[in-house]
Amino acid sequence: MSQAIIDTFGRKHTYLRISLTDKCNLRCTYCMPQEDMQFMPSKWLMQADEIELLSKIFVEMGVEKIRLTGGEPLVRKDVGQIIGSLGKLPTALTLTTNAVFIDQFIDDLKNAGVSSINVSLDTLKEEQFKQITKRDHFTKTLENIRLLLSEGFVVKINMVVLRGVNDAEVNDFVRLTLEDANLHVRFIEFMPFNGNQWDMSKIVSYEALLSDISSQFVFNRLAGALEDTAHSFKVVGGKGTFGIIGTVTHPFCSGCNRIRLTADGKLKNCLFDTTEADLLTPLRNGEDVRPLIYTHFNKKHFAHGGHVAFTEQHARVDYDQNRRMIAIGG
Ligand code: SAM
Ligand code: SF4
Repeated sequence: MSQAIIDTFGRKHTYLRISLTDKCNLRCTYCMPQEDMQFMPSKWLMQADEIELLSKIFVEMGVEKIRLTGGEPLVRKDVGQIIGSLGKLPTALTLTTNAVFIDQFIDDLKNAGVSSINVSLDTLKEEQFKQITKRDHFTKTLENIRLLLSEGFVVKINMVVLRGVNDAEVNDFVRLTLEDANLHVRFIEFMPFNGNQWDMSKIVSYEALLSDISSQFVFNRLAGALEDTAHSFKVVGGKGTFGIIGTVTHPFCSGCNRIRLTADGKLKNCLFDTTEADLLTPLRNGEDVRPLIYTHFNKKHFAHGGHVAFTEQHARVDYDQNRRMIAIGG
């Protein structure tokens, strides 16, 4: 067992998020720029055996949970093989997906011991789905969410709440949690990334969400762990839960345990940190990447890649220098 990855603030990093690709079958407005999107050539991407090797190294360094993300992880042709190989590691394996292709991978996911899946869904209205994702996969997405639930998976629906776009649907999403103990909804504050037209006025804040939900439901706050990104709540008499990921107004950096690996094998120690450490090139050269990992995490800032708070000024300048969300891995 190698030494654990502990940064200068004493935070132990046990949760690895691996982006499998920057490609996607949807075009969510808050995630991808609407034009000028160039994807990485395939030869830049970590290959399945390289993903397995790096994952094993991180597991030896104390990683207890791996999440596959992207882009859309399920558009990658060898994703079944990757799920199979990572499923054999002594860690929890999970996935964040838009669910459009989930029916093709149900058996791979079950065989790999995956039990909980995060699914992005920002609206319960077909026309609105088309507006937000620029694609026509609403029915398939809902069918696949139902399939996951019927197969016994825990489903956490991620909804990015955008003022004036889908905020009127927040309570409809809360209502979904009433009947199913395996269905959880998390409302996410809109975050700034390169090319996603972010501004403060489009955020529906943690407080605004709670106030809106309390106009229709009585609910209690649930106890959580320090590393949780969401504050969780349960409607009285309901079965599932809802949570709020208040990245902008209620940052959760003090308990951060996350390690991010981009699809081209770059290590990022925060979504909002522009500095990266290339692990793939040294790995391909047969070098030991462990020292690079420790050095990179020694430089981890306390919060938001060194920003004290999100501001319009940062969004215009600093966040424009960061990768697009789709190229980081959400
Ligand atoms: N394609 C998969 C999906 O949509 O679930 C995985 C990748 S996606 C980048 C991961 C998560 O990031 C999704 O839940 C998505 O809603 C969220 N996300 C993307 N852009 C965001 C933004 N600007 N602010 C907040 N969340 C965002
Ligand atoms: Fe694709 Fe997920 Fe980004 Fe939507 S949020 S464009 S589904 S990567």
